Amino acid sequence: MDNISYGFELAKKNFRRGQGAWLILTVCLCAACAFCGCGKESAVRHSLADTAMGTLVNLTFYSGDLSEEELRELEDSLLEEIRGKERELLSWREETSEVFRVQQEMGPGGAFVSEELFELLRECRKVEEDSDGAFSPALGALTRLWNMDGQALLPSEETRVPSEEEIRAALGHCGPDHMKLTEGRLFLEEGTFLDLGAVGKGYMLDRIRKELSEKASASGKSLWGVASLGGSVLTYGEKPDGTPWKVAVADPEEPGETIGYLELKGSWCVSTSGDYERFFEKDGVRYHHILDPSTGYPAKSGLRSVTILSESGFLSDALSTACFVLGQERGTKLAEKYGAGILTVDEGGEISCNEKMEGVFRLWRQDE
Ligand code: ADP
Ligand code: MG
Repeated sequence: MDNISYGFELAKKNFRRGQGAWLILTVCLCAACAFCGCGKESAVRHSLADTAMGTLVNLTFYSGDLSEEELRELEDSLLEEIRGKERELLSWREETSEVFRVQQEMGPGGAFVSEELFELLRECRKVEEDSDGAFSPALGALTRLWNMDGQALLPSEETRVPSEEEIRAALGHCGPDHMKLTEGRLFLEEGTFLDLGAVGKGYMLDRIRKELSEKASASGKSLWGVASLGGSVLTYGEKPDGTPWKVAVADPEEPGETIGYLELKGSWCVSTSGDYERFFEKDGVRYHHILDPSTGYPAKSGLRSVTILSESGFLSDALSTACFVLGQERGTKLAEKYGAGILTVDEGGEISCNEKMEGVFRLWRQDE
């Protein structure tokens, strides 16, 4: 399978602490202009940092001919689009969203869904099938039971691990056998709920890339930059000086630090799923937010994080979750089926990359 492994101990030993902050500020946000210039004396930059979809959003764009004010307007409109899609399509919590409404309207014959939701669910079904159900858009009964978002905010003595009976009951309403998608209609059995939390941010990266290329081609203006939504990052366009974008990979042991970075030229999507992102602890055990549909419990595949590189935001996000559940070997096979790059960090700190990822991943080393 042409994978390479790095000794993580070596990586950690040689990791230069000061660079953690440097990366978080400049590589995650990909303000590569700060170092090497934009290659164009007149290029302007604008950056927006805010929250949406329950996570941090950072939009940083550059242009050779748009004004700073125009970049600001563009970023404001993209932020509004992200919030709008969450509110109107993706959220299972907000009563205004289609995902919420469609569940309320579900009758014995199912419910009609918009073309957009139908297409998104169709793509989810494909990854569900290819991952043998490790990823599923119909895990809502289980994710609601665990309520990781809520429990992560509670003091440990107030958290609660669901009982085995509860987990078994929830699993009886999860996965491909309880959801049908035909001719513009969605059918969910009673007690089955959608949860698109594993793909929403990646899906939005695809929307953002589309908006940016429409904007650039309609006006003939140059535009390049980076959008990050939590653990999902889009690099957009080529920097005029030809230098690559740098996207940091967090250290699962110390998520404020990084193990290295990807050097990318042009437009790419990078998503990371890790057990450190959302979790709660009870009686010394950590319960994280990536659930294994075959057990109903947080996935124990031997991995701590999975980073996927793909041209598609949807795929990078869906596959990072699916491959986390599948583990290193099966996850790598799945990523390769989709032509994606994969980097895994396992519980022993070992880092593995497939060939596509190996070509762009730079591990921090003392001699750099
Ligand atoms: P994040 O949302 O932190 O970026 P992921 O992309 O891995 O992380 O998505 C995790 C979210 O997806 C969970 O919070 C939950 O809502 C949902 N989820 C958890 N396990 C699965 C799974 N096996 N398949 C599909 N969705 C899942
Ligand atoms: Mg995901």
